[in-house]
Amino acid sequence: MKKKKTIGLVAHDNRKKDIIEWASWNWKELAPHNLVCTGTTGKLIDEVIRLKCEENNSIPPHVTCLKSGPLGGDQQLGAMISEGGVDVLIFFWDPMQPQPHDVDVKALLRIAVLYNIPTASNRSTADFMISSSLFHEEYKPIIKDYSKYIKRDVDLV
Ligand code: PGA
Repeated sequence: MKKKKTIGLVAHDNRKKDIIEWASWNWKELAPHNLVCTGTTGKLIDEVIRLKCEENNSIPPHVTCLKSGPLGGDQQLGAMISEGGVDVLIFFWDPMQPQPHDVDVKALLRIAVLYNIPTASNRSTADFMISSSLFHEEYKPIIKDYSKYIKRDVDLV
């Protein structure tokens, strides 16, 4: 992954306040990167970082808003990860409430592990990640060789 990263940001409704506070606190670190978010999270993050950038005469980051999570946004993000389009995932999921799209949440977390994407599910992990020097440098994550899982001969009988 390059110095300028694509950072995925998602928060469930009960965690949106947390991610907005976190993004607002870390706007300077986030601003040089591209942000890709599920719909509602993205709208809120765009607003808060844009405001900070305006106040400080800085160029705001490009924020891509995908579909809302329950409408397929998590799956879109997972597909982007599988194609190498997301470098880091900040995903504040709700540990106290089931979601209508729980299966999509699980799939997103699985794909992030599969592709060895740095993933933060809470603020302290996100703090550790964003304060790491690697956050602002080039970094090549090691991807396990999964080629043995590619099925070449399937017995249809
Ligand atoms: P949202 O989706 O950002 O559109 O709220 C997040 C989610 O619930 O997965």
